[in-house]
Amino acid sequence: MKVFGSSGTRGVANIELTPSFALRVAAAAGTVWSADRVAVGRDTRTTGRMLADAAASGLASTGANVDRLGIIPTPGLQAYAEREGVPALMITASHNPPEYNGIKLIGDDGVELSRHQLERVEGTILGEKFDKISWDETGTTRVVDGAREAYVEELLDSVNREAIAEANLTVALDPGHGAGSLTSPDFFRELGCEVVTVNAQPDGFFPGRDPEPIPENLADLGRLVRAAEADIGIAHDGDADRAIFYDEKGRYIEGDATLAALAGAELTPEDATVSAVNVSQRLVDLTTEIGATLELTPVGSTNIITRIEELQRGDVHVPVAGEGNGGVLFPDYRLARDGAYTAAKFLELLTDSTASEVVKRFEGYENIRTKIHYDSDAEYDAMLYAAEQQAEKASAELSTIDGFRLDYGDAWVLVRPSGTEPLIRIYAEARGIHRAQELADGMYDALIAAKAEATADEKEEAAQ
Ligand code: MG
Repeated sequence: MKVFGSSGTRGVANIELTPSFALRVAAAAGTVWSADRVAVGRDTRTTGRMLADAAASGLASTGANVDRLGIIPTPGLQAYAEREGVPALMITASHNPPEYNGIKLIGDDGVELSRHQLERVEGTILGEKFDKISWDETGTTRVVDGAREAYVEELLDSVNREAIAEANLTVALDPGHGAGSLTSPDFFRELGCEVVTVNAQPDGFFPGRDPEPIPENLADLGRLVRAAEADIGIAHDGDADRAIFYDEKGRYIEGDATLAALAGAELTPEDATVSAVNVSQRLVDLTTEIGATLELTPVGSTNIITRIEELQRGDVHVPVAGEGNGGVLFPDYRLARDGAYTAAKFLELLTDSTASEVVKRFEGYENIRTKIHYDSDAEYDAMLYAAEQQAEKASAELSTIDGFRLDYGDAWVLVRPSGTEPLIRIYAEARGIHRAQELADGMYDALIAAKAEATADEKEEAAQ
């Protein structure tokens, strides 16, 4: 797909993601949906209102009446879409830096559009096949108040409120100036937690930290946990569909460890879970131990959601799924990533254990990441061929969903071309650094040798 990547469409606002582009995406979505009513929400970015205005115009031009919800987390807009039975359009660039913005499209069931549905919208944009209606059939716009409050109420009704309240938890919260600033503090207070915050004013310049919830951006949260002697630290990305945690000692918890801990609380042997092809060995070990099925997809939430829907159509129960970046889905609640809900599910695990105890069994896993640059198609092809050869030689289970992933049972290695740069990435993970290093080195050496050979061949050809 040209317009929509694995998680919607994104770019630098007013350069790549212009109001006229937002208008065309919205007009195409309005044409495909042909709904009477469509909701529009946005995160806190400074360009959000401009792009939401353009999107609202595009939708109205196809005859849709537009509910303007203002700033709201993506999962809050999804809750509104499902409750009201209307499709929705979210203006957000999620975890990207402040200058970015983007668009996510949500169906009237509250679920992000599938690849197939996005392809229809994309075809409408590229073919300029927008609905053309007469002036007296165009839509109108109304401001809807109270959608954030309704979302928080729904969250409160969906989690184990009594157990969390009884645990008397102190929560240190960093919504990162994003849309969660307007919902998560209230939510955790209503759950009976003591809440201390940092970066909790909605601000599209993101003065305290960038929207991506990675350790480099979260030093303040670690300090706040220690200063307030909190039981847990919680951070969101810009649209609050993700949650990342710090333990009671103010230490970052790997998103992969959180995912495995949450999955451990949900999965039974009959269940399946879905994650991306770079899934941690932690989840592999956990599902093996439980006897549940682990399904892998290409990286990106759209792929994970599409696979869950396929499994559900085959009557397979998928109680939990997601990636190690803090984006977790609990499909029995909603087929959507929700940072506040994910955090509450983690709080449910703290009723009789500390955060560090909850993730202790998932410690000791080591990741190696390396990359190899290439200058020509010949080098690229040679390296991918070498990776395939390595896979054939290895006593490992091979998956080719997105690059080459070799599963050795106790460890794995993945070779994957970058989607945006001339790089081949190599990932390896094992319990213990030596095993991970051994697998990464073996693959690296094979690819480097193949690249050198391809370069030599090219030089020889050029000399002839
Ligand atoms: Mg997000």
